[in-house]
Amino acid sequence: MQVNYLDWDVVKGKEQYEIAQSAGIPVTVMEPLRGGGLVNLSDKALQELKANYPDTTPAEFGLRWAASLDNVVTVLSGMSNLEQVRQNIKTFENYKDMTKEEKEVANKIAKIIQSQGEINCTACKYCLEVCPKNINIPAIFSLYNQYKVVKNKMMFTIYYESLAEEERANACIKCGLCSKNCPQSLQIPELLEKIEKEYKKAKEE
Ligand code: SF4
Ligand code: SF4
Repeated sequence: MQVNYLDWDVVKGKEQYEIAQSAGIPVTVMEPLRGGGLVNLSDKALQELKANYPDTTPAEFGLRWAASLDNVVTVLSGMSNLEQVRQNIKTFENYKDMTKEEKEVANKIAKIIQSQGEINCTACKYCLEVCPKNINIPAIFSLYNQYKVVKNKMMFTIYYESLAEEERANACIKCGLCSKNCPQSLQIPELLEKIEKEYKKAKEE
């Protein structure tokens, strides 16, 4: 399963993990570092990490977060050079489950990342309360914001397609109810239309 601390609340990571857990199926984690998005943290997100744990690297923090989940048996991580292999071995040689305080810092970092993207969505989910089509607006905005930072088209299309088809932007009927409920005054239908276009373009390339 794709599990990491950024997607946990936004892209149903927690929900899916709990389904596996309640069925007694052990989980092997892929994308614990969100395609590099949790390694190359923004200045503000990195500041939050270093202010609390100056000796921890973003990669170590993300890997330990995923490995600390009770039902996880393996955490897979793509490594592109020997130094990354060494660092990951170090993380797991001296492995300790994350503390409650560390998990709270991970939540804070996730919120910072979510609020810093091109679309200033705070994932408050007020829009979801009124959308007659149950479009997963905060998840779509989060995926798009990550795409704009990491610029990985393949990751964007894979993640976008991991949402149920009826939850995606092209199911929007442009009723505008979501925008009226959005504390950030986002023009949600227009943004969804733009994202759907960019998804199609990324898919073709
Ligand atoms: S405009 Fe689209 S996303 Fe917003 S409430 Fe209507 S159907 Fe849902
Ligand atoms: S109401 Fe606005 S800020 Fe809140 S989740 Fe929806 S789009 Fe994001």
